[in-house]
Order: sequence, then structure tokens, then C-alpha cells
Amino acid sequence: MGASETTALHVLPNRHADAPQQRDLDKCVHCGLCLNACPTYRELGVEMDSPRGRIYQMVQVATGKALMDEGYLEHMALCLGCRACETACPSGVEYGKLIEATRTEIQAKVRRPFPWGMVEDFAYGTLLQSPLLLRLLATGLWVYQKSGLEALVRASGLLKLMGPLGKIEHLTPEAQLPTFFTQYGKVFFAEGERKYRVALLGGCIANVFFARLHEATVRVLQKNGCEVVVPAAQGCCGALHAHAGRREQARALARNNIDALLQTKFDAIISNTGGCGATLKEYHELLEHDAAYHDRAKEFVSKLKDVNEFLDSIELNSKMGPVKRRVTYQDSCHLCHGQKVKVAPRKLLKAIPGLEFVEMPASDVCCGSAGVYNVVENEMAEEILVSKMRNVNSVAPEQIASSNPGCMIQLAAGSRKHGSGKLRENPEPVKHIVELLDEAYRNAR
Ligand code: SF4
Ligand code: SF4
Repeated sequence: MGASETTALHVLPNRHADAPQQRDLDKCVHCGLCLNACPTYRELGVEMDSPRGRIYQMVQVATGKALMDEGYLEHMALCLGCRACETACPSGVEYGKLIEATRTEIQAKVRRPFPWGMVEDFAYGTLLQSPLLLRLLATGLWVYQKSGLEALVRASGLLKLMGPLGKIEHLTPEAQLPTFFTQYGKVFFAEGERKYRVALLGGCIANVFFARLHEATVRVLQKNGCEVVVPAAQGCCGALHAHAGRREQARALARNNIDALLQTKFDAIISNTGGCGATLKEYHELLEHDAAYHDRAKEFVSKLKDVNEFLDSIELNSKMGPVKRRVTYQDSCHLCHGQKVKVAPRKLLKAIPGLEFVEMPASDVCCGSAGVYNVVENEMAEEILVSKMRNVNSVAPEQIASSNPGCMIQLAAGSRKHGSGKLRENPEPVKHIVELLDEAYRNAR
């Protein structure tokens, strides 16, 4: 039997080509060792909202014993995709792969009610892929926020009349002008001797909401002997698309980035976003059956490094000034459970003079951000955030360090609402690790 025939046998009859494969589902031995790692199970105590329960339901659907009914859709939607269960599983179940495959099948077979289907199609298919629209969005939002209109709306009580939209309004990040799109196509020279030539990935919405973080990333890399190139032809990484089951769109975006980034020889391709990095490192899996791109995808993945991972792998420039602050660290799920990068961020924090690093309990449990989860499953995300903030407050930090912009938005909202002591008073309760390094380099005499 040839390889292609073997693959074909694993696609069950009448199922989507990207649906969960039986061989992957069969890896689960139902031991339950993953249950306590799962944030939704910890909150709800419901088996069907645990990894084991979700895999059981996937098997029922795969074998035709159950339908994709409302209950199934809800249990799958409530999963954060945080992959904490993957780290906890002793049997090597690749849960991230299973939930993405499940969502791809749901996306292909289940029609979203009007107008949400259209809104989602526009967001994933157009907005996230258009620098022009993202810049327009940022400019409009910037005017709304800086003109005082945002404060007026918040004070007027209007948000209470806006139902679910009013409840998520506080998660709107600050629009940052100029956006980082203005740096596309530029080269930033290394400070001192050039040791490395690296490419920086800007992503999509991070260019307009985290432009200053990207600039700090460039500066920190320059301080560490890197010539930083921001390739103009790069685009959205496709992580949000893959998580939402829009696999074909994710594949098209992956091909675009491979074309854009492999044109030139780089020592490393750098991402400062844990969520994007996990998908970028899986491009070879996404393009597994694409003969023209699979080998190039592997080459791309071999160069891809999270910024923490990269800085930890080189001799870090230690000419830093003190950052006198008590800081805790929240793991980005996709950095620690997806990319398995857990030690490097802590080593970097400990390298900053004056910074008092304090570990919080359950730092590797999701904060509830999970891509767009805090927007679409706001109630559960809030419950998870309350638990998270309890753990943050227990170590009394002045600031939370993170490695993922999505977590930064969620934790900043959590600090304002549920933070205690100096954290609550801090106008910048959350910073990315490269922003703390940037601060330390600027403090050097
Ligand atoms: S991905 Fe996260 S939320 Fe989903 S089942 Fe696994 S641990 Fe639970
Ligand atoms: S996913 Fe892994 S840890 Fe969880 S029940 Fe299955 S085999 Fe056990």
C-alpha cells in the first residue's frame, strides 16, 4: 500500500479532508491526567468541557454515533485552544491539532447565523489581510480615543445599552500611530559589529495596536548585534485563521510569508508574539500535502524563532541599567505549550538588573485571552481571568511580564478590574519582555 493510500484510509467517509484523523484520536487512552490542566474544566467541573470529554465527543462524531448538534458546537467553542492538555498528556495526544481539525470541519459544515457569518468572513477574509484597512481602522480608532469621545461614551452609560458589545468594549486596545506598517521594507543596522541578520515579522493587528512593542523589539535586537530587516511583502501569519478552522486561508497566508521571507538569507526569522509563533512553526504541517511548498515550509520553520528563544540562544548584551520593579510572568499558552519555550523568558527577566522576578502560581494556565476567545466567549474568559488575577495578586507584583500581545490586553484589563496594590495603580500594568529589556538598555549609562 502506497503512502497516499494510507493517508486516504484515515479520512473517514463523508468527512472533511481536514477533519480529525482517527489515528490522532486513538492516541487518547482516557486516563484523565490532563483534566486539572484545563481551564474550562477547572472552572466548570464538567467532563464534556474537559480535553478527555472533548476528544470523546470528537470520536462520537467521527464514528457517526453523534451529530454535530448545538451541544457539540458549544463544547468545542468553549475550548480555549490553549494546549495545556497537550503538555499534561503522557500519551502524546496532539490536542491542538485535533481542535483545529474539528473547527475546520465545523467551519465547512455549519452555517453561522446572520450577521455574524458575514462579519467573520469580512474580518478573516479581508480586514486581517489588508494593511490599508488596518491603518484606516487604527486612524479612526485613534481619533475616537484621543478626541475624548471614548471617555465620553464610557461615562455616559451608553455601553450598558449595547449588550454584549458593551461588555467587551473595555478590551479595545489603544490604537498606535504611526503604525508599524510604516517600517515595512526598512533595514535597521546593528549597533556595533553585525553578528546576525534577522527578519522581523509584524503580523496583522499587532502593527496597529503594538507598533511601539515592535519598535522596542527592533531596538533590542540592534543592541544585540542584529541587522533587522522588516520585509515589505510579509503579511498576516494565519494563526487566527487556523484556530478558527479557516485552514485554506491560513495556507494561502503561509505561502505568502514563505515567498516573502525565503527570498533573502536570514540567520533567523523573529516573532515576538507567542500565538503567531506557534502557527508559524507549524507551516510545514499546514502545507504537508502541498508538494510545491512543503520543503520550503520546513526551511522557513527551521529559521523561525520566538524573540525570547533567539535572545536566550545568543550571548545577551549585558550593558543594561536597573529596572527596579517586582515583576511576575504569565506564560503565553502558545509559547509554553505550543512552542515549549518556558525557561528562556524567565532567564531574560532574571538578567535585567534591579528587577525582582517573582513566580506566580499556575503561571502556565491560560488568562482567558486565547486569540479572539475573550471577545467571542467573554463570560467564560472573564471567569478564567478572575482566577488568573487571584494568582497574580497572591505574589503582589508591580507589573506583569508577557510574551504575547493578546495576553497583554487581557491582563491589562484584569489588572484594572481585579488587580491589587501597586499593580492596580500602575498605568502600565503589563509589559512585553522585550519592552522591559528595551527599558533596561535605555537605562544603561
Ligand atoms: S486546549 Fe485548553 S481549554 Fe481546550 S481542552 Fe485543552 S486545556 Fe482545555
Ligand atoms: S488527552 Fe492525554 S491525558 Fe487527556 S485523557 Fe487523553 S490520554 Fe489522558
